[in-house]
Amino acid sequence: MINGREYIKRIDALQNEVWIDGGRCSGKLSQLAPFKGILKSKAALYDYQCKPENQELFRYSMPDRKGDYGFSYHQPTSIEDLTNRRLATQEWARLSAGLMGRSPDYMNTLLMTLGFAAPHFAQDQKGFGDNIKRLYEKAREKDLSITHTFINPQVNRSVGQYFDDTNVTAAKVVEEKEEGIVIKGARLLATQGGLTDELLVLPAGGYTLDDAYLFGFMIPSNSKGLKFICRESFCYRDSRFDHPLASQFEEIDSIVVFEDVLVPWECVFLYKDAQVVGEMEEATGLYTFLQFQAVCRQVVKVEYILGLCELMGEAIQIQEYEHIKLKMSEIITTLEIMKALLVASEVNSRLNQYGTLVPESQPLKAAIQYFSGVYPRLMEIIQLLGASGLISIPTEKDFNSEIQEDLAKYLQGANINAKERVQLFRMAWDLGMSAFGSRQTQFERFFFGDPIRLSTIHYNRYFTQPYVDMVQAFLNKREE
Ligand SMILES: Cc1cc2nc3c(=O)[nH]c(=O)nc-3n(C[C@H](O)[C@H](O)[C@H](O)COP(=O)(O)OP(=O)(O)OC[C@H]3O[C@@H](n4cnc5c(N)ncnc54)[C@H](O)[C@@H]3O)c2cc1C
Repeated sequence: MINGREYIKRIDALQNEVWIDGGRCSGKLSQLAPFKGILKSKAALYDYQCKPENQELFRYSMPDRKGDYGFSYHQPTSIEDLTNRRLATQEWARLSAGLMGRSPDYMNTLLMTLGFAAPHFAQDQKGFGDNIKRLYEKAREKDLSITHTFINPQVNRSVGQYFDDTNVTAAKVVEEKEEGIVIKGARLLATQGGLTDELLVLPAGGYTLDDAYLFGFMIPSNSKGLKFICRESFCYRDSRFDHPLASQFEEIDSIVVFEDVLVPWECVFLYKDAQVVGEMEEATGLYTFLQFQAVCRQVVKVEYILGLCELMGEAIQIQEYEHIKLKMSEIITTLEIMKALLVASEVNSRLNQYGTLVPESQPLKAAIQYFSGVYPRLMEIIQLLGASGLISIPTEKDFNSEIQEDLAKYLQGANINAKERVQLFRMAWDLGMSAFGSRQTQFERFFFGDPIRLSTIHYNRYFTQPYVDMVQAFLNKREE
């Protein structure tokens, strides 16, 4: 396990090719305004896992190896392991109010599922099974941080677009060499792209007849020709008072460009094999585990939303109104549904063929689907409770200026002073209204894929026959 200092040192040393707002970043990323908040917050996670009092939950060791490893690399084989994983994931998530979609455990977890299912990738004898096992072990030994890109650029989403990609927009293999494959084109959308040690790529969803798009690999973020093009930062100010959330948890998202990147064979674990891709979830449980991690985080996020709304209600004494109670009850219902689905997935977990205890996928799919729809409503509730309070939010500088007495008098709450009230409402604004907050909403809607297509897949794969039979039997039943 690494600590925060080691993580920052490593990222700064990589000198990844990161572009933002018209220029290529130079020097230490951890000292640049758009990135320093999130790097510091991630470093805090690594520090937290190293604290002696957290060792029991966050660390595991292996009898045949020296060293300790982070919880998310651990292969769960019992319900106790899964419970431990949930508790650790949530404890980390609480440090960021559930706002860090890409805390290191997200991708570590994915790599764990692939690493322990190595034989699945070894089917074609090209050593890909050994490769994924080695990549997993390398990540575990070095406690690497990883980002990923799983989708193609949004150039043309009509059916069959892949077959006319003559200008090479979506990343694909353009050459096969003795040393590896050469990738050209782009992928979306790497959250924290350029801010991690490595980049993991899996085939984009959808159908393609062209196997030049079928690959899975993991390479260092500073690989030659790899470029991360970031969107503008939504952290406009350093001040924790003014931007309580963005100043700490603005993750940045980036477009990933592969300019003839040579991916060495030893970094490739999947290549031109549609069957391996098609059976990957069944063999590894990777998406189920990613959903497990995400739902753990989302539960924490709703806990924070509930606490925040309760404090807002108290600050201006609106809890007595019926419709406010109704809205608070909506938040509580969301929290309880999400918690129940998470625990249901744990209780009904089953061992896969490689000995990994995989949570039951249906409750997690339901949770992810439900949350992508309900999250915008939770943000609406924040807006409805806060009303003008989310707009009358002077800055820290205002509170330190000669108008401070005006602010103290006119912005006080029922049982809270003006500065504390504005700080609280600024947090609500940063979650429900700011550019950072809007991006959070878009994240919860889409990060796991297009909710429309996920619903279609959910329905198509759900086994409805027992319920059809039940109704048929009911209809066929004659009076005795
Ligand atoms: C904030 C944020 C962070 C993200 N971070 C990551 C990340 O770290 N790594 C990563 O790999 N991805 C990431 N994503 C990408 C995410 O996986 C995609 O947004 C998601 O899969 C949807 O794809 P898309 O954005 O290309 O939308 P599109 O597929 O282009 O969809 C646009 C619209 O068209 C409709 N549509 C398109 N095709 C069809 C179809 N075949 N049938 C029906 N309707 C269709 C959709 O319903 C939608 O309304 C992130 C996204 C967001 C918003």
